[in-house]
Amino acid sequence: MKPIQMSICETLAHCCNIDEEEERDDHLWYHDILRYVKSREYPNQATENDRRTLRRLANDFVLDGEILYKKRKNQVLLRCVDAIEARKILEEVHEGVCGTHANEFTMARQIMKFRYYWSTMEGDCIRYAKKCHKCQIYGDKIHVPPSPLHVMTSPWPFSMWGMDVIGPISPKVSNGYRFIFVVIDYFTKWVEAVSYANVTKTAVSKFLKKEIICRYGMPERIVSDNTLNLNNSAIAEVCSKFNNKHHNSSSYRRKMNGAVEAANKNIKKIVRKMAVIFKDCHEKLPLALYAYRTSVRTSTGATPFSLVYGMEAVLPIKVKIPSLRVLSELKLDEVEWIQSRYDQLNLIEEKRLRAIRHGQMYQKQMMQAYSKKVCPRIFHEGDLVLKQILPMQKDFRGKGALILAEMDGKSLPNPVNANSVKKYFA
Ligand SMILES: [Zn+2]
Repeated sequence: MKPIQMSICETLAHCCNIDEEEERDDHLWYHDILRYVKSREYPNQATENDRRTLRRLANDFVLDGEILYKKRKNQVLLRCVDAIEARKILEEVHEGVCGTHANEFTMARQIMKFRYYWSTMEGDCIRYAKKCHKCQIYGDKIHVPPSPLHVMTSPWPFSMWGMDVIGPISPKVSNGYRFIFVVIDYFTKWVEAVSYANVTKTAVSKFLKKEIICRYGMPERIVSDNTLNLNNSAIAEVCSKFNNKHHNSSSYRRKMNGAVEAANKNIKKIVRKMAVIFKDCHEKLPLALYAYRTSVRTSTGATPFSLVYGMEAVLPIKVKIPSLRVLSELKLDEVEWIQSRYDQLNLIEEKRLRAIRHGQMYQKQMMQAYSKKVCPRIFHEGDLVLKQILPMQKDFRGKGALILAEMDGKSLPNPVNANSVKKYFA
């Protein structure tokens, strides 16, 4: 009997299906489709089968003037872009002004949401995200188990806020500010943040009054962490003045503040990746907040922006390469525009209800995921890896110790544990 040959692939199966090699072709990817949609012509050497395929493909495309759109299942039109535009969109979505260094799947979804399409979108996103240097350096360590997000349930937008402090940041940013004070609404995940040299009573109460209460109305309660110096008399004073509860998530129920901690982690990650050097991070903070508000939060399944305003924000890239929304909104007269705005607002409740439902499902999934085991990683000789720098390491070995060498071939003095390294893709 012949033995069965088996091998384990390290990448996901559907990633293998996407060709690494780029096909060289002088024409645009939609050249044939465009020609067919325009004038019902086929390419010269097309067989009967090719023609049939082309006809089927072309069914999903619509021509408007000179611009080709792909119809999605829900009749939404996506603008077809060429390779150069696609590259621009990838860059902008991943690390542009409002990019969050999102992972490949979020990127593809985001691009579709911006109403763009090209034929190798998913594969391009996977390749782009995998090779991004900053993502690899600052990405999560793989072995950290997903922390269960105890999303405190909030009945309606802006009724419950959580607050936390990021920092101290070292080295100091250029204006001497070391702390970022973050406040997040539990329902919509809307964030407000400000940087300070020191988080003082007066600064915090002023911020709460000006940026939260005057903008979003009186919250029912404000949640903060015990370890912070926030449950002081000034906060109590603000709270009693406006007659709301200040809630401390005590140490044995620390997870209460999970939503803020998760938001902080994300904002920190976004700021860190956006700032070329950490020093200009206070300038990038508003942009990081903008990026956070306009990207889909896993816990609600919607962008904070849409839950607050009932519509999605128009992003800078959309003006550069006009998508259907910008083009059609340019054509609308005022009455029509107001009507469409009303429609969006009418639908906001549905969006919010959907977000609640999504949140409940998400919590359930998180609990299940937490109980599952993490899977081991396999390294081969010659693999490039990133090593986490740990302060004070006594015993370097453990299960699966690795001997690392630097890029010039010099071996590092001590073996390291596989937990502290991850693969690098060049
Ligand atoms: Zn990245």
